[in-house]
Amino acid sequence: MTTTPLPSRVRHLLVGAGFAGLGMAIKLQAAGETDFLVVERGSDVGGTWRDNTYPGAACDVPSQLYSFSFAPNPDWSSSFSPQPDIQAYLQKTARGAGVLDRFVFDTTVEAMVYDEAAQLWRVRTSAGEIEAVNVITGSGGLSEPKLPEIEGIETFQGEIFHSARWNHDVDLAGKRVAVIGTGASSIQIVPELQKVVDHLDVYQRTAPWVVPRHDRRYSAPEKLALRHLPGLQRLYRSAIYWGRETYVPAFTWKPGLALPARQMALGNIRKGIKDPELRARVTPNFQIGCKRILISNAYYPALDSDNVDLVTDPIAKVTGNAIVTADGVERDIDVLVVATGFYTTDQPIAHHVTGRGGRTLAEVWAADGMAAYKGTTIHGFPNFFQIIGPNTGLGHSSMVFIIESQIAYILDGVLHQRVNEYAALEPRADVQAEWNADLQRRMRRTVWTTGGCASWYLDEHGNNPILWPRTTFTFRRLLSRFDIDAYDVEAGQNASSTTPQEVSA
Ligand code: NAP
Repeated sequence: MTTTPLPSRVRHLLVGAGFAGLGMAIKLQAAGETDFLVVERGSDVGGTWRDNTYPGAACDVPSQLYSFSFAPNPDWSSSFSPQPDIQAYLQKTARGAGVLDRFVFDTTVEAMVYDEAAQLWRVRTSAGEIEAVNVITGSGGLSEPKLPEIEGIETFQGEIFHSARWNHDVDLAGKRVAVIGTGASSIQIVPELQKVVDHLDVYQRTAPWVVPRHDRRYSAPEKLALRHLPGLQRLYRSAIYWGRETYVPAFTWKPGLALPARQMALGNIRKGIKDPELRARVTPNFQIGCKRILISNAYYPALDSDNVDLVTDPIAKVTGNAIVTADGVERDIDVLVVATGFYTTDQPIAHHVTGRGGRTLAEVWAADGMAAYKGTTIHGFPNFFQIIGPNTGLGHSSMVFIIESQIAYILDGVLHQRVNEYAALEPRADVQAEWNADLQRRMRRTVWTTGGCASWYLDEHGNNPILWPRTTFTFRRLLSRFDIDAYDVEAGQNASSTTPQEVSA
């Protein structure tokens, strides 16, 4: 991808070029708000779909729904698209929308500081400084790999890498490999590694619930029909959307409703594993849905293979060439894959954002808990919009639906700002507090709180600042218009400070 030089000033600065940043750019352009710039630390669009190239990477939400509503794609190869298909879709969508001339790649945002007097964000990037009236972040809720804190791991002499930073230069054929973690990434990686390595050790701390994956390839006539009958694609999308939405009561209200899913998962274990002792060790001890429900037909058979060992004794340390478990057993390895997830409730980007009074977002969230208004705007941070902010995550449906809801809300907000010549918009503290009190009250009866598991959804106080505890259509309705009454507004010099001409000059 080519890179645009950094202008000194822009009206809307977008951070990140994944689904969120790209979708926002496309919608800003369509609304005539062309004075924007997207800064991306990677070399291409795609976000998580650019970064997660591990063997077996695929989306566990069907692509007909896990795609932009405004950019339907008749070319999906199968119902659950593999990562290369999704990455190609995002590249094609970006090219087709004609927005890439305002994307700056290989550029990291280092600091974003709100200048109260100038009513501007002053942003320092690895390619220079830039001023912006609005900052819109789409930097992803699962973008910063979290490495496990294990004694001696830094002394490991073999190859070691995180699932989201796969090292394709390492030839795994015939090697002794260990995978730490049994989450969504690991269960896709393990069956692929099992086919090529000499021996694989899978280190499980908590057994996940894994239901069968009903995947199928689209036939040629079906693809043809999808291409020529747009209504058919909308029908598929709608059917998947409403099917997924039926999971919500089980997650948020009556976990007992998930009994059929539990039965399916237990059946998946029986079908995939012959050894009764191994079956017992992979059977979870918490309610289904408490952690993300995983889907795979290949994971259990892979664990049951002769060249794979599931290790459930806790890891004590890593040495130069082995992992040692608490029972004293030392297992030699050549390659260590850490599939241990991401920073979620302690997002690194929060340390780089400074709002009113010189307080960083990390300081505000450390004191008050990670919270926002409608998952998008934050008191103390005027003209700052976060796509996939607090309490916007889903355990059951497409994040693209949430992203599009937020994009529409932000767009309405910045249009309000321009039309009414507001220099600054900031959600009122009381409104934000009320929004979050309601969310946390709803959280109390969800399976994520009551289901008896520890998960990356919960912070150290046991609060859930990650997930949305209602239906997604409620989220969309609540964000359907920018509710200016919930905001403190300021007039000032920035009201119509930049024009598209100024930026492209
Ligand atoms: P994850 O779900 O957070 O799983 C991390 C795994 O590592 C867990 O099994 C965890 O065990 C284990 N772990 C963490 N620290 C450890 C330690 N110090 N020692 C031993 N084990 C440790 O991460 P992920 O699999 O990368 O998935 C993250 C999220 O990304 C998913 O929930 C999903 O939202 C998304 N994702 C989606 C897809 C898809 O669409 N197919 C694929 C991949 C990822 P515990 O369970 O005990 O904590």
